[in-house]
Amino acid sequence: MCIFCQIVEGKIPNKTVLEDENFLCFHDINPTRKVHVLIIPKEHYKSFQETPSNIMCDLTAFAQKCAKELNIDESGYRLITNIGDDGGQEVHHLHFHMIGGEPVGRLVR
Ligand code: 5GP
Ligand code: ZN
Repeated sequence: MCIFCQIVEGKIPNKTVLEDENFLCFHDINPTRKVHVLIIPKEHYKSFQETPSNIMCDLTAFAQKCAKELNIDESGYRLITNIGDDGGQEVHHLHFHMIGGEPVGRLVR
């Protein structure tokens, strides 16, 4: 079972921000910004590329609630999902990084 499925099942502890029947938002173990949380569906999808679009529709509403809960909905934030090898994905269970709480900087090469 993947590491995030184990978090969903409570086998690995997490610092939960928000949870509903289908989604979980918890603090990243190794935060890169003042706010750095992960938003995942409880159901296992390998990455964004394998995720049905209706899941993404519901995830949108959940992520918006998370931003409000974290008080970054007005200051802004970045939502990122890494996909596969070139995307730098390390955990192969769909997750969105929500980072903010400070300016996160530009995407530069
Ligand atoms: P990826 O590179 O796959 O997009 O990001 C995986 C993220 O999961 C990393 O930011 C890493 O810090 C986080 N992470 C990995 N294992 C755990 C864990 O056991 N608990 C939490 N809260 N975060 C984790
Ligand atoms: Zn999983």
